Amino acid sequence: MVLHGKIPRRILRLMFLLVLPITLVCFTLLFGYERSLKAQASLTLQAEQQKGTLIITNQIESVFSQYVSDLLVVYNSNEFSDYAQDPNETTLLDLARLFVRITNQKEYIFHQRFIDTQGKELIQVDRNPGGLITLVSEEQLEDLHKFELFLSVRNLAPRVLYISKVTAETDEKGNQKSVITLALPAYRGSVFLGVVAIDFDACHLLSFMAAYQGTLNKDLSFSLIDPQGRVLLSGENSCLALYETNRNLFTEIPELRSSLYDSDQGSVVIGNVIYTYQAVYPRTYERLSWNPGRVRLWTLVSSFNTADVPHLTHEFLLSHGSVKYAISVLVFVLGSILVVFFQVRAGDKQQMRISSLIAEYATNGIVVCDAQQNITFCNQAFEELSGYTQNELIGRSSHRLRQDLQVVTHTRHQEEIHPAWVFHRSGNKFLTSLSITHLFTRGNKLEYSVEVYSPSQWTPSDISELCELANHDPSQCFSSVFSLLNHKTTVSCLCIRVQNSKELGMLLNQSERVKFSQSLAATLSTLLGTTIGVHAFSFDSYFVFLKDTELDESMSKKIQSLVRTFQEPYNTLDIRLDCGISHYPSTSSNIFDLLVDAYLASQMVEKLKNGRYVFYTSDVKKRYQRHTAIRDALSTVFNTDQMRLYYQAQLSVESGTIIGAEALIRWEHPVLGTVSPDEFLPILQEQQQLDHLGRFVITESIQFLSRNLAFLRAACPAFSLSINLSPEEFSNPSLIDLLGSQLREHRIPDNFLTVELTEHTAVENLTSANSTLDKLHAQGIAIAIDDFGTGFSSLSYIMELSIDMIKIDRSFISRYPDSQSITIYKTVLLLAKEVGATVLAEGVEKAEQLAFLAEIGCDQYQGYYFSKAVDEAVFLKQVEQVTIKT
Ligand code: C2E
Ligand code: CA
Ligand code: CA
Repeated sequence: MVLHGKIPRRILRLMFLLVLPITLVCFTLLFGYERSLKAQASLTLQAEQQKGTLIITNQIESVFSQYVSDLLVVYNSNEFSDYAQDPNETTLLDLARLFVRITNQKEYIFHQRFIDTQGKELIQVDRNPGGLITLVSEEQLEDLHKFELFLSVRNLAPRVLYISKVTAETDEKGNQKSVITLALPAYRGSVFLGVVAIDFDACHLLSFMAAYQGTLNKDLSFSLIDPQGRVLLSGENSCLALYETNRNLFTEIPELRSSLYDSDQGSVVIGNVIYTYQAVYPRTYERLSWNPGRVRLWTLVSSFNTADVPHLTHEFLLSHGSVKYAISVLVFVLGSILVVFFQVRAGDKQQMRISSLIAEYATNGIVVCDAQQNITFCNQAFEELSGYTQNELIGRSSHRLRQDLQVVTHTRHQEEIHPAWVFHRSGNKFLTSLSITHLFTRGNKLEYSVEVYSPSQWTPSDISELCELANHDPSQCFSSVFSLLNHKTTVSCLCIRVQNSKELGMLLNQSERVKFSQSLAATLSTLLGTTIGVHAFSFDSYFVFLKDTELDESMSKKIQSLVRTFQEPYNTLDIRLDCGISHYPSTSSNIFDLLVDAYLASQMVEKLKNGRYVFYTSDVKKRYQRHTAIRDALSTVFNTDQMRLYYQAQLSVESGTIIGAEALIRWEHPVLGTVSPDEFLPILQEQQQLDHLGRFVITESIQFLSRNLAFLRAACPAFSLSINLSPEEFSNPSLIDLLGSQLREHRIPDNFLTVELTEHTAVENLTSANSTLDKLHAQGIAIAIDDFGTGFSSLSYIMELSIDMIKIDRSFISRYPDSQSITIYKTVLLLAKEVGATVLAEGVEKAEQLAFLAEIGCDQYQGYYFSKAVDEAVFLKQVEQVTIKT
């Protein structure tokens, strides 16, 4: 429902197993796509480089060839050959005219010169600023014999072209020019005639490069380098800025030199930079060679850095590299949102299905409240618990339906469990164990509370302790009772407990227990007429507070009638009620004592046996304390030698001789003193520790027989030692086996041992009893029915079991000479004779009782008249004395 701030594992797992891989795949694809785009872009750029270098080189070469042909026009002209045939004033003037004509036609020609064999200019035609062509006058002609141009060309063979470096020049008007000079030596036959030279506009030759660069609109830089690697011109620069970069590619990138001269064109990758180059040759159509031979003139180099490819292309993905990260993050975020969304929805659905199932079938009451503590949902179990329908409950405050017995502070992560009363529609109150879980929104605001009301495990003592600890103001705990006490009235507190709750608990399921509890509380409320309703602590403990009452006869009557009512089966169930009563102010001084004292008294009902109710007194309290002390001491008693067997003689009524003994357990505790079996046997039984006792009694009594066998045989030949076996011991096969094996081990003759079973034991285990009885008989053990007459079984029924002795309960002899008890004795004797069983009278204390027994012909007796149970030594003395007497 609510994630509680923590990301559930399932969502995390899905994010790792699904969203993350998808994101990675997406990123890898984007990355791969980007790389392929980059490679493609790189190839495209390279192609553009190649195209660019080819076009530029072609352009330069064709312009260059134009320059060469212009030079050849002069060289091959009639005027020049006329002059060569006959160098005179006229032919020179004709040549000069030709120079003017040509210069006039070709605006890229700056100067034309003809230099004689001595280096002296014979003709010079200039293009002046403004386009005016002038033939330089004779006086102004220069002597160039020391100039590089003349010195180089003078030594050239015929038809070998001279190409100067490109140089920058400034004319008289301060205009920048770049100049390249082409020249040819002139010969007639082998006679050197002079030099024909034209200065061309290098800018005209190279301007295309910058123009082309301009069309590219990209950072594909083109550079023209000379054979030494110096950058003559960079594409982006104007051709007037020759050599201005001062760069030398060969010093910058030494590897470039060898690559560039491997072939005339190609590409080379150095580091991240791709260089594409194209050699520039002076193209000469005529059979001209040029100085210095077939060496390239320049090299056009284009370069780009692969790292710059993204900027050089128009691909969005490349120019915005972070896009792939953004897309991946977006995929991850979206994926996560989807996963969380679907998981939460699936979780919600699942949760709701589970919740409704749980709520429907839960035997605990479940209530869901909104932030204002108003009920938004409750299950059927809570309807039963409160007596209201869901429709009546929705919208009501859950706090008004209950009272918490502990002040609890709501912390976020803690689930609190505390006792709380639930107010039933009838006015009765039911104690529950309330657990509240608070569900918060992400913003830490309380959204829902889920309250689970389960059956209380708290005892009244827990509650009063808790209330006393938690609240200095006791009114908080039992407000209604407290207001009773406050009005200076007397109040009786009845703690009514279902004595056979264990058996009932096994018959009823939880929801039936709730119903049982409500119906019992309602009945008690009507029968006792309480003003504040019955407080039910659990399905077997109820508290009723009665105003203006005393612990007197009328109260006894009230309770007796109550107990009587429940003697009839209640709602088809057999229930037995015990009642403990306390009183304010005579026995208990405050609400907590009142509660605890009544509860304590109710626990003593069984032990005190004065009907089914006990008024709380200080004596009751003492007994209760002794009871708990015994319980505590019992846990370790079999590790001490505090337990001993005592022996009570069984005598012949007729002869007065001892013909047996009953082994009775005795416990001498250093602090508690003598603890009677009636006190501790029920506790051992409760704790299911009776087999400890059984083992002890069996081994001890057989050792007694074994030790004294010879003496007893001699003194009383028919001697038999009786041991008591409780129902639990009797139905424990390992104890029965132990009995047989011990008898054999100590070679005890037949009939030296008798097992006493109560009427109850014998009848209740009838089917299995018969087989166990047979087993005992087979081992030479006699069987006696103990406490005969206290059960309700018919005598003839008992007679069907093969019984050796019937011990008539001591309550009959104590009532002698009551006529009913006389009848019993007579009847039992009659029937016993028929089946051949001996009859023993228990609890003979007086001579007249013994006389009566003799009169009716009872076989044996046992009782204080002869002796209490005594230890082994005393008993043996008794045997001795009785034997000597007779
Ligand atoms: P029980 O088997 O009926 O034992 C006889 C009880 O009556 C003994 O009480 C005995 O001390 C007492 N008694 C004997 N003669 C007289 C008499 O003349 N007047 C009166 N008022 N009482 C007399 P005790 O020893 O307190 O035993 C109580 C019960 O505890 C026994 O009743 C028996 O059911 C049980 N018990 C005693 N020892 C053992 C034992 O070793 N194993 C088992 N499972 N139960 C035992
Ligand atoms: Ca007995
Ligand atoms: Ca008895």
